[in-house]
Amino acid sequence: EFDVPLGAVVKLCNSGQIHVLDDEGNEHWLSSLNATNIKPMHPTSVHGVADMICLGDLNEAGILRNLLIRYREHLIYTYTGSILVAVNPYQLLPIYTADHIRLYTRKKVGEMPPHIFAIADNCYFSMRRSAKDQCCVISGESGAGKTESTKLILQFLASISGQHSWIEKQVLEATPILEAFGNAKTIRNDNSSRFGKYIDIHFNIRGAIEGARIEQYLLEKSRVCRQTQDERNYHIFYCMLQGMSPDMKKKLYLGNAVDYDYLTMGNCVVCDGRDDLKEYSNILSAMKVLMFTDTESWEISKLLAAILHIGNLRFEARMHDNMDACMVLCSVNLTTAAALLEVDPEEVMSCLTSRTLVTRGETVSTLLNVEQGLDVRDAFIKGIYGRLFVWIVDKINAAIYKPPPSDCKYMQTSIGLLDIFGFENFVINSFEQLCINFANENLQQFFVHHVFKLEQEEYNLEGIRWQHIEFTDNQDALDMIAIKPMNIISLIDEESRFPKGTDVTMLNKLNSQHKLNPIYIPPKHSRETVFGIQHFAGTVYYETAGFLEKNRDGLHGDIIQLIYTSSNKFIKQIFQTDLAMGAETRKRSPTLSGQFKRSLDLLMKTLGACQPFFVRCIKPNEFKKPMLFERVLCIRQLCYSGMMETIRIRHTGYPIRYTFAEFVDRYRVLVPDVKPAFKQGNMKVACQCILETIVGRGEDWQMGKTKIFLKDHHDVRLEMERDTAI
Ligand code: ADP
Ligand code: MG
Repeated sequence: EFDVPLGAVVKLCNSGQIHVLDDEGNEHWLSSLNATNIKPMHPTSVHGVADMICLGDLNEAGILRNLLIRYREHLIYTYTGSILVAVNPYQLLPIYTADHIRLYTRKKVGEMPPHIFAIADNCYFSMRRSAKDQCCVISGESGAGKTESTKLILQFLASISGQHSWIEKQVLEATPILEAFGNAKTIRNDNSSRFGKYIDIHFNIRGAIEGARIEQYLLEKSRVCRQTQDERNYHIFYCMLQGMSPDMKKKLYLGNAVDYDYLTMGNCVVCDGRDDLKEYSNILSAMKVLMFTDTESWEISKLLAAILHIGNLRFEARMHDNMDACMVLCSVNLTTAAALLEVDPEEVMSCLTSRTLVTRGETVSTLLNVEQGLDVRDAFIKGIYGRLFVWIVDKINAAIYKPPPSDCKYMQTSIGLLDIFGFENFVINSFEQLCINFANENLQQFFVHHVFKLEQEEYNLEGIRWQHIEFTDNQDALDMIAIKPMNIISLIDEESRFPKGTDVTMLNKLNSQHKLNPIYIPPKHSRETVFGIQHFAGTVYYETAGFLEKNRDGLHGDIIQLIYTSSNKFIKQIFQTDLAMGAETRKRSPTLSGQFKRSLDLLMKTLGACQPFFVRCIKPNEFKKPMLFERVLCIRQLCYSGMMETIRIRHTGYPIRYTFAEFVDRYRVLVPDVKPAFKQGNMKVACQCILETIVGRGEDWQMGKTKIFLKDHHDVRLEMERDTAI
């Protein structure tokens, strides 16, 4: 699927044999007689270029090769027009110093070598000049470098805004808190963000940072209860256990990470290269900067400790009236958790072993078996952690968000940074991947429209006719997933609200509604539980088992009732929305996909009102290793990133462009008596003469005001003629 030609250099050529050295360092002897799969490289592709828009081979192979040869020289940044491609170096490069910040300040794109600071600088001065909001969409798969890029842009903006003010410090210090509670070690990334975020930084009329607002998306709550091999729970737990004073730990009855089920499922409690002890003091000081009171920090620790104790509860099966039931064994963990949550331990036990159902005004209590009991327990913990995370983000926003006063006479402008999970296609994909890929379909459309608009602007500027150029975007996928009536999300939602709805009934509805849609792939057999969607970046198969449960994202009434009885003000605060709702309204409370769709709609509206910049992060290998560039891995990401779309759009128009001077100098050999560019009076006429002679009058090439616009086959023709001529 990703079979891409490899570049090579000819070392020797004799008697029908060519000796070549390929880009991966391997030597081959090839027969030049039957070499149908060998193609000369476009001259622009031989050495690396800083802006790939200039590549004659503007295709997958050309782009890949360009990134590879630059990467070998530690040049990790490359443009494709206004898009920055960043290949993760997995080593600290000396390119982020204060000197670099200075060097990149107030420069045009292209004036300096490609750099993340150049994007930040452009965002900033474009905002200052136009007084328009800007945004920067940073995408890539896990471990590609999105979060690091976001931090570098933030660092640049803080430095250029240059006030060293308290608010600047606060905005910067939000990151360690968010990372402590929302990042974890995974097999792909030692500091993997398990949520998406949009940071909107506000600037006053003098260009100084005045405030910011953070929006978070889809925290992975399941990680609090479960980790796969070699992965960890959220950093904060390990930091707390390493860094908290023995005194305070004693108050919370806390031991070490190895003592807790919730922290050891991945058989991994330490993360090489991370110092949990040191991090803990950073987190605490960041919390101080963001105005978390000592009481609040302590209350957070209490909840975290309660989570760990609840994770250690032991369940045992028992029979009751011939029915499977369960019990929670009495333990220090139970009494401690109950004490920390300030609830009755008996009540905790009964919540985790039975469930109250109200049907037609009658209350019935049913007993849970061990498996159900554990599920309720985990749902409870996910409920706590998810709400705690939301509370923390709110708390940060309370410190850094300064809405402009209503009588504000001056304009506040902003730069938004979107650091969000890229397109995902794993062996098994679930509801989360559907949400993530849905978000990426939206971002892809935004991107494609922007790139197309830029192309049109260039054509207009050059006075080129382009009305006949068309492109298709991914509207079909968006329609099917979330826009047209009976779309996939709405069907999932409907089934989630339906008390008798199951993953199977949901899948049946999806099938009957969409089976004729060419981008929907129904299960092959009636027993299968998987459906597929053809996304812009490829087909993804979704396993529907567990969809409804994840989408409902609910806590049953007994748990809410338990919290209602608590005297712990903090937990009541983080659950306040739930407590304020009656049992009936809670049943209708928003589903996960409903909430996500709403926040995504808002995000797309915000982005739509901004001048956008794009950073595409690429992970060159799966081993977190420097100087290792795996071609197949990279080409897949280039496809997922939608970069190929830029190329496609360019190809529907005129992919090859030369300034008049460049063109004359390259091709004047083809027509006698054409003088070199520096001796030309009217270069446009000279270009026209060459084109008409070699390519022909009736062909679809165009002369702009400063450039010539050609189709690929014109370029091939010209190059062939040139090869024979010289
Ligand atoms: P993502 O947010 O895309 O999952 P991160 O930004 O967390 O990925 O990057 C993963 C790791 O890669 C970082 O922890 C760091 O070690 C390395 N890394 C990323 N970008 C850079 C960079 N510009 N320079 C050096 N190392 C980097
Ligand atoms: Mg990240």
